[in-house]
Amino acid sequence: MGKRNKRYEKEHRAGRCELCDGDVELEFYVERGDVVACTNCGAEYVLKALQPVRLKLIEEEPEP
Ligand SMILES: [Zn+2]
Repeated sequence: MGKRNKRYEKEHRAGRCELCDGDVELEFYVERGDVVACTNCGAEYVLKALQPVRLKLIEEEPEP
């Protein structure tokens, strides 16, 4: 058993979190306009485009 890096297998789609620089994983079924979350810090993004992946950070609005 060696240590294999299967990180980039197939068509792994992921965005880049602008808050923590972590991966924002995109499931195969997500479509433009869906909300995805950073797996690292939980920041939420709207998927603006898939090819290439473009994400827009959802900024939390303060409670009124
Ligand atoms: Zn993050």
